[in-house]
Amino acid sequence: MCSLIKVLFISVLQLWAGSVLAQQVAVNSLQHQIASDHSRLIFGLSAPISHKVFQLDNPPRLVVDISNASLKGTLDQPPSNHPIFKKVRSAARNDKDLRVVIDLKKNGIVKSLKVPANQAGSYQLMIDLFPKQDTHAAKPPVTHSVSSHPLVPKLNPSPKPAKKPSPNPEAVAVAYKPVVKKPVKKEPQRNRDVVIAIDAGHGGQDPGAKGPHGTHEKDVTFAIAKKLAALIDRKSGMRAVMVRQGDYFIDLKKRMKIARESKADLFVSIHADAYDNPSVKGASVFTLSNKGATTEMARWLANHENSADLVSGVSLVDKDDVLASVLLDLSMTATQEASQNAATKVLGSLKQIGHLHSRSVQKAGFLVLKSPDVPAILVETAFISNPDEESKLRSVAHQDKMARAIFNGIDSYFQQSAPAGTYIAEQGRQHVISSGETLSGIAQQYGVSMQKIKTTNAMNDNQVRIGQVLSIPVDG
Ligand SMILES: [Zn+2]
Repeated sequence: MCSLIKVLFISVLQLWAGSVLAQQVAVNSLQHQIASDHSRLIFGLSAPISHKVFQLDNPPRLVVDISNASLKGTLDQPPSNHPIFKKVRSAARNDKDLRVVIDLKKNGIVKSLKVPANQAGSYQLMIDLFPKQDTHAAKPPVTHSVSSHPLVPKLNPSPKPAKKPSPNPEAVAVAYKPVVKKPVKKEPQRNRDVVIAIDAGHGGQDPGAKGPHGTHEKDVTFAIAKKLAALIDRKSGMRAVMVRQGDYFIDLKKRMKIARESKADLFVSIHADAYDNPSVKGASVFTLSNKGATTEMARWLANHENSADLVSGVSLVDKDDVLASVLLDLSMTATQEASQNAATKVLGSLKQIGHLHSRSVQKAGFLVLKSPDVPAILVETAFISNPDEESKLRSVAHQDKMARAIFNGIDSYFQQSAPAGTYIAEQGRQHVISSGETLSGIAQQYGVSMQKIKTTNAMNDNQVRIGQVLSIPVDG
């Protein structure tokens, strides 16, 4: 073959390959999530697909065949402590299809759902794996898992089963008007209370998880939430707003809206976990995952095009999309930092009253946490599926203890990071010196000059000792 023909031949080959690739669906991402009653895989796709899902035994694995698709980038591996998913691998098949194999810790019942494109133009394939043991749990209505669990980002309207006899949850949500204790005007910027929105998980026709003795998650979350609210209201400079005030359903977006409307400084969602292995136990604290935030942000932007002043007083209406998303991103970064700090404090406090399921703050794409302007955490108080923890969750003494621990965490978060203009910030804060800390580090942490700290605490030099309690003045 002469070299010109060779070049032409190769060019034709490339063109042909290019046209095949152009028609292929790109598989861009894979997320793994854990919900109270199932585990979920979410594939991010460039276009609608046709696919097949099946399971194999010895070793247990889930096979997802996607026709005419190829992998873009790498698929994320599940965390090693994921209850169901072990390892993800993939390979091309028949020159044009993609096979993804997920090694499982055990088989389950599979359900898959294709989600139409969201605002960002991304399609999704969701695959849910339900535990086998409980026949009732085997076929939960798709609408429940899509619309009412905090783990599941609510996307564009998903295909609904033809008949759904239960009342329309949206209708209930619309009918509900939150009762906020001081709804209209707050004294501008001086000595105001910090506001904590307390969100008792689930409610009404959505009972949440169920314990082996029949305890409903919605009831224990509400009991703990009420006790927490009472503790908060008892403390000067703090005020609680209960997101739901009784046993009724509110959808997740509405929960966040109530928090925003009450100008909450922190949103605390209270839940109880469940898993099919009854020995799994302990508390965990979650914040929002960065992953998926981009598309949620895009959606959020789209929904709020006409609302101004939501992002640190900057109207997004007259900004172009790129600028608007940068502003939103900045606002979210600050909010995420605050959420992380609050979550760390609450986790540290929960550690003192019992077993933790996860020792570090967990991140997940909870829709209920996705607000760019209110720091938010979600507390899984315990596993209601564990008989011991279920009876603890029912006990008033334990509910008190749990509420107290969450309160202590929230309190110490605000002692350290009360927003300017609040009573707590103006009263000054206290800092207990721990090992390795220096005066200059503490000054930096609070954004106060070293001199001011020294004056306030009548210090002659820069020496601090472990256990010493410093009053931290407000700068300016
Ligand atoms: Zn829950």
